[in-house]
Amino acid sequence: MLDGARGGHRVEGHDVERAFDVARFLHADERAATAVIVGALARLEAARGEQQKRAYYQAGREETVRPYKLRLSTPHLLHKLVLEESERVERASEREGDVTDRDLLIRYIKHLVLLSIRHNAFYATLAVTRVLYDYRTRDAMDVYAVIADGEVLKESYDCRARRQRILGLLEERFGARLQFVRACRGERQLLTEEAEAGTASLVANALEMLFPSPAACARCAPQGAHDDDMAALHTIFHPRCFAALMQELRLPSPLSRLRVPLFATPAAPCPQIGASVHA
Ligand SMILES: [Zn+2]
Repeated sequence: MLDGARGGHRVEGHDVERAFDVARFLHADERAATAVIVGALARLEAARGEQQKRAYYQAGREETVRPYKLRLSTPHLLHKLVLEESERVERASEREGDVTDRDLLIRYIKHLVLLSIRHNAFYATLAVTRVLYDYRTRDAMDVYAVIADGEVLKESYDCRARRQRILGLLEERFGARLQFVRACRGERQLLTEEAEAGTASLVANALEMLFPSPAACARCAPQGAHDDDMAALHTIFHPRCFAALMQELRLPSPLSRLRVPLFATPAAPCPQIGASVHA
């Protein structure tokens, strides 16, 4: 049952308010933000039912399906639906070229959050440590060992393969706006740059706003309840908790490892026959 030990409490007024804040953070246009919320609320019951069904079929065979997909409390499910619904509006604005690099950076962070919530703590670890930040594969494995609490450590091959999968998901979402290069072993790398102070604080704001919260973790809210699988992800998506974890593991500070994509301007539509290519 969703409304059970996993803390799947019902959506309350403050959850809807928070959902509105997220939609407004993503869309300055009030009508667009409202459409996102209406769409998310309309899908909530069906999404709850789907998650319940999956939990039922997974019961008793968790060992074979680990790492399982995350189980979300109802407010977190609503948050996820807001991120999903937002994508339709985002894509429409991108098709019209009505988008800035700042918008794209926020949407990129949003997509890393969303693909992590859609999968599990392993995806989340790699999305954060190996895509958003430039840590080594072995550092990612150390982080996973801490947050997954007892999960079997992944081989470095698994980390590399899953990271490529994440890059593929980003490419599906952003197409030619993201640029890739080949690095050692022929692996694809996202073309990125180090973040300036202003960009770093935008990323921190976006992470705080776009990751479902408050998913209380032992680090920043010792009194809080671990109400779903989101608590493990909180540790790496919450900038303050992540910085504390990196310090504990004696790894470089996140600020020094933050990398943001160099977005490309998509090619202009082909000029019509007979039109001059040159101005
Ligand atoms: Zn925290």
